[in-house]
Amino acid sequence: MARRGGRRRIGVLACGALLLAGCGAAEPDRATPALTAPSPTAGRSFAPGAPGAGDPYFPSYGNGGYDVAHYTVKVRYDPATDRLTGTTTLRATATANLSAFNLDLAGLTVRSVTVDGAKAAHTRAGDELVVTPATGLTSGNGFVAEIRYDGRPAALDNDVLGEAGWLHTTDGAIALGQPESASTWYPVNDHPSDKATYDLEITVPKGLTAVSNGAPKGRSTTGDWTTWRWSEDAPMASYLTTVAIGKFRVTTGEHKGRPVYSAVTTQVAEGAPDRSIARTIEVADYLESIFGPYPFDAYGGVVVADDRIRYALETQSRPVYSAGFFRQGDNTGVIAHELAHQWYGDSVSLQRWQDIWLNEGLATYAEWLWAEHDGESTVQHTFEQKYATTSSQVWRIPPGKPGVENLFGRSVYERGGMTVHALRVAVGDSAFFSILRTWAAENKNGNATTDEFVALAERVSGKKLDKLFDAWLYGTDRPAEPKPL
Ligand SMILES: [Zn+2]
Repeated sequence: MARRGGRRRIGVLACGALLLAGCGAAEPDRATPALTAPSPTAGRSFAPGAPGAGDPYFPSYGNGGYDVAHYTVKVRYDPATDRLTGTTTLRATATANLSAFNLDLAGLTVRSVTVDGAKAAHTRAGDELVVTPATGLTSGNGFVAEIRYDGRPAALDNDVLGEAGWLHTTDGAIALGQPESASTWYPVNDHPSDKATYDLEITVPKGLTAVSNGAPKGRSTTGDWTTWRWSEDAPMASYLTTVAIGKFRVTTGEHKGRPVYSAVTTQVAEGAPDRSIARTIEVADYLESIFGPYPFDAYGGVVVADDRIRYALETQSRPVYSAGFFRQGDNTGVIAHELAHQWYGDSVSLQRWQDIWLNEGLATYAEWLWAEHDGESTVQHTFEQKYATTSSQVWRIPPGKPGVENLFGRSVYERGGMTVHALRVAVGDSAFFSILRTWAAENKNGNATTDEFVALAERVSGKKLDKLFDAWLYGTDRPAEPKPL
């Protein structure tokens, strides 16, 4: 994610799901499902899955007891009435013996749930959907759940970033947000530790475009409705899913055998946004020369104009940019930032939100690399300027442990970027760029932690780096100027 200029608003995330966990309202329904004898589950102990994935920063995000492999999300949305009708089918594997399991779903009304084709009981507890299948799910076994739902989607309030989730706009809708947004338009295991592949079908009134993640898979019109199909074949964290519905200037193409699909809202005049987005391939190829192979099967970007979206987000294979980034003219810095996340954040995802600097520090550093490549300031100069002028407030916040209230604060970005440069100075260019490439290659399509990054950096460089990372990631003062080790 990149924030638009000016001071970042710092506040406490007003996350409904988080508050629910605090007041204990998210307890799953513990009613035992009626089992018909003889049952394949007889004699085993079955229990409800946890209502959270166990992230210390966001205890209610995600759920326990299963691992989703694939989502098929089909939604129909009518901007005139702001009504969404959806059917989401997910293919998952139980990781515990489950009598019930939770999905995250904010608002909307669930009409029916089936598990492996059999009707399942379902209850709601705030933003949790509790599903009780007719028979228990055995650990290690696959299952398929289908949920039908509808209603007026509601955004999730977030004091730090503004509203996130499904937003009704003047010409359609935008579904976007970090650290959560997906649960406003489909039932989901909403934590980056459970990545899955996706097929997305978005049906909208004829004449509107519906852009989503991954490769375009065609569209068809029946009557007054057009269905747009997209698929993302690489595992994707749920907060990286997006839909943008409206009127767009669309450009398509192909690069290295992969589809390119970019869209700029017609609410802004043709110019800087279009020119900047058109450089997506050039920027991606430059980053590929540094980070290793581009990790996904499609390229692109979407420019939106809505006052509630004051940021850009690295939605997988197709970042979404606020038009505000291009108000002063062409801006490829933000493109470099969001494209860098395709490697660091999207392909290599967080295991827990505390490690957000791994995403933002590396993406900020990519902006500095791109600026040097594009003939602007050198990386060394950028570092020196930041090191000299960054406020003491930033030095007081450790980017490796920023707290929920500073998850997207300046320390995570600026000091995160400076941490990456301190590593480069310490280990030298050859080892440094090898660390970046090895990190992307070894964790491709996976999840990773700060401790794993430090261990990999030590392994690749052959140097002991604990003191460096302790000072840069966890200290509450400005670290000493970096020197070669
Ligand atoms: Zn970012």
